[in-house]
Amino acid sequence: MNAPFFTPGPGPVQLDRDAIAEQVTALGARIAEDYGDEPLHLICVLNGAFVFMADLVRAIDRPVTMDFLSVSSYGSRTESSGEVRLVKDLDQSLKGKHVLLVEDIVDTGLTMQYLLGYLEGRGPLSVRVVALLSKPSRRVVEVPVHYLAFEIEDAYVYGYGLDIDHRYRNMPFVTSLRPGDTEP
Ligand code: 5GP
Repeated sequence: MNAPFFTPGPGPVQLDRDAIAEQVTALGARIAEDYGDEPLHLICVLNGAFVFMADLVRAIDRPVTMDFLSVSSYGSRTESSGEVRLVKDLDQSLKGKHVLLVEDIVDTGLTMQYLLGYLEGRGPLSVRVVALLSKPSRRVVEVPVHYLAFEIEDAYVYGYGLDIDHRYRNMPFVTSLRPGDTEP
């Protein structure tokens, strides 16, 4: 018998499929209600937010448009470099649109700070943030998170789109490493 790959890690943060689905459904309903008939444009921050984005857009029962950008803020290690680089730019204009930025996790806040500045400069009607996870104890700069699924303690998390060195993104739940570890 093969060892199952979808095995939760040993760390303190564990969010199972049902808990995630419940929060994502609730966020989608709130977002649909808050924006009413306004033109809502979701921007997915690749790569980590792709699974969250896919579930979230299907929980928003109203027309939306969407686009994708990619930033690199982590190298191949589990510690932030603090440097943010735009790797893939948006395809569509933000003029006349209410933008909702979809992030996997807000950690130090440096990536979000950079992205908000970048998006504001492109003339949207408004910019808000929805994040799956937030680690407030790690914050270096204050950034607004208008919609949040889970506030978590300081642990390196992976699964549900989040990786360790490009692996584990396909695990259908969020799990974590023990403090100080770099592998499960
Ligand atoms: P920040 O700029 O807020 O420090 O970090 C934001 C980015 O770092 C996130 O979008 C994510 O890509 C990555 N990141 C921060 N914490 C974690 C974590 O615990 N696990 C994973 N896989 N990525 C993280």
